[in-house]
Amino acid sequence: MRPLLLVVSLVGLGAAALLLSRCAKGPDAPPAPKIRNVVLISIDTLRPDRLGLHGYDRPVSPHLDAFGEAGVVFEECVAQAPWTAPSHASMLTSLYPSALNIGKFSDPGKVSPAARMLAEVFQDAGYQTCAVTGGGFVSRELGFDQGFDEFRTFQKMHLNVDHALKWLDRRDPERPFFLFLHTYEVHHYAPPEEYAAEFVRPYDGPIADGRNVAKFVQNYQNRDQIAALTEADWRYVSDLYDACLASTDAAMGTFFAALKERGAYDETLFVLTSDHGEEFGERGYSGHGYTLYDENVLVPLVFHHRSLAPQRIDQQARVLDVAPTIAELAGLEAPVEYEGISLLDVIGGATANLVGYSENAHSPVKSVRTTGRKYIVSTKEPNRELYDLDADPEEKTNLAGEEIAPEERRMRDGMVSWIEKNLRVRSSRAAQSTEMSPEMLAELEALGYIGGSGGTPAVDGADWLKLLKSE
Ligand SMILES: [Zn+2]
Repeated sequence: MRPLLLVVSLVGLGAAALLLSRCAKGPDAPPAPKIRNVVLISIDTLRPDRLGLHGYDRPVSPHLDAFGEAGVVFEECVAQAPWTAPSHASMLTSLYPSALNIGKFSDPGKVSPAARMLAEVFQDAGYQTCAVTGGGFVSRELGFDQGFDEFRTFQKMHLNVDHALKWLDRRDPERPFFLFLHTYEVHHYAPPEEYAAEFVRPYDGPIADGRNVAKFVQNYQNRDQIAALTEADWRYVSDLYDACLASTDAAMGTFFAALKERGAYDETLFVLTSDHGEEFGERGYSGHGYTLYDENVLVPLVFHHRSLAPQRIDQQARVLDVAPTIAELAGLEAPVEYEGISLLDVIGGATANLVGYSENAHSPVKSVRTTGRKYIVSTKEPNRELYDLDADPEEKTNLAGEEIAPEERRMRDGMVSWIEKNLRVRSSRAAQSTEMSPEMLAELEALGYIGGSGGTPAVDGADWLKLLKSE
């Protein structure tokens, strides 16, 4: 479904020229350099409210905060899925997870070669392309290497950055580049010693027994133990997360400084986002991958280049919009099948009223988030939830009554159209099944994804339609 925004087509150098006229800081300001290169950064599992940029009161992200303050910050960006594989697939193809048929922990599927990933758009336009990811659900096995000249995986962001810089130094400097940086460092809950010393407060409770905390919080089988955690336990879990973020932030500081040293910073568009958030016991859950409440689906979104005047935008954006926006900012044409829109007009001041759909397959739930409203449909009780996000941002008071009210009916109808469209797209873009390598299974085990997903049976699109149309 295309939103009602009038999207001006800006192809080639026109995009840079228009941005300069929109965003230059004054008539005497020197012309900003053009966008030549693109770096897309996905810090897996990063809640926006853990960044100082969004009001967090611990100094865990000084480099990302300074970077964001000089950029275009979306206050709210909705991920299309609450876990890694479907959300990244959506980010990089601008299609919905169910259209790609990417969805279950146990059998995520391999992104179809027929889906055009953002890296392929850059590769076809003559860019050199490199991905340095944390592997696991963002791996070759799942098709995430499509369009990349080089695809490597490491487990700590400073290693990803080291490799990215080596690649930048040996590539052809005459050609522009597209670099994708992804890390699970925040997801791992295992900070390097120096960051643990700074951010993990004294704690001697049951979780500090040498266990793998990532596995503990992510494993659904532990839900009874998790429901019984005390405030001190949660503070420890949260401190580990903070310390991992501080380590990731330091690596990002190194990366930004290295690009400045190489003279590439000012001609590079940087985009910072994530694939999903994380739960810290807001409603008795931990980890991610099951529910679609805001703690799971809101992610940061920052566009940074000298031609973009720093600003904060309170309209909702979607992870789905990342690829088309990057393509347009770089002066390339986004594939017609992309479901997201370029946010360039929104950055320029237009109102878009973007509707954010999210979904999960192994724990069947779908949601729609609009300005001030969130509606969630699930196969489990309560199977209809409606929240007023302005009055109730924590989504605690379910406004869905016994009867379906007209507002709820409109949201259900919107979901029906969205599901029908995804079923049509899926006929040509569905994932291939994949064999997971021992290395990939080990990575997933360390992240807590193996051996306890506990999801209920998947529900197909046709069943969703039946469910939504039955009442
Ligand atoms: Zn993730």
